[in-house]
Amino acid sequence: MKRLLQKPAFNYPITNFFNLLMDFSNLPPALVSQLMDMVEDYILGSRKKFLPDAIPLLPSQISALQPFFPAEILSSVRTLVLNGTRIPNPAFYSMARMMGFHNLPDFSDMTAITFVDVVVSHEKFADDLLFHELVHAVQYAQLGAKDFASRYVKGFIQGGCYEEIPLEKNAYELESRFSQDQAQVFSVADEVRQWIAAGKL
Ligand SMILES: [Zn+2]
Repeated sequence: MKRLLQKPAFNYPITNFFNLLMDFSNLPPALVSQLMDMVEDYILGSRKKFLPDAIPLLPSQISALQPFFPAEILSSVRTLVLNGTRIPNPAFYSMARMMGFHNLPDFSDMTAITFVDVVVSHEKFADDLLFHELVHAVQYAQLGAKDFASRYVKGFIQGGCYEEIPLEKNAYELESRFSQDQAQVFSVADEVRQWIAAGKL
């Protein structure tokens, strides 16, 4: 998922302050594993909810992204642009906040979120936004939803915020390579595989 607006700078000292108070790395493993299950359920539930209204990629989108993505990703991904509604935060957020997670990514702040192979957006797809989300689709394809959810939660706990989640760093880094020079072709699938093999995700 990709953040829509940067939060005002004055928010960061507050969230950093909470991070200092809360050592996420000491959370009980059973609790962490419960969070991972809840995130996986949220992903799969959201995919099911949005899939009926989602459509295949447009020919113009496919031609822009074809050099970078496997054909099966481009043919299987579905997209949906929401109009007048926003993606709700997961139901478990209120519980997670009580547990001390004060800087969970707010989903209404996100431009778009990918649920396995269904990309749901709050605004029309620019190529760089779609690129970012399709990196997540590749991550899902290589890891499976369960492992993706586990790594997303683990990344958040270890890094302390959305920006530090390795799955997001991977998507932002590859997106920025694409945005800087679309003529410099590379394989997103190979990049994601290399990050996994190197233990970076
Ligand atoms: Zn993302």
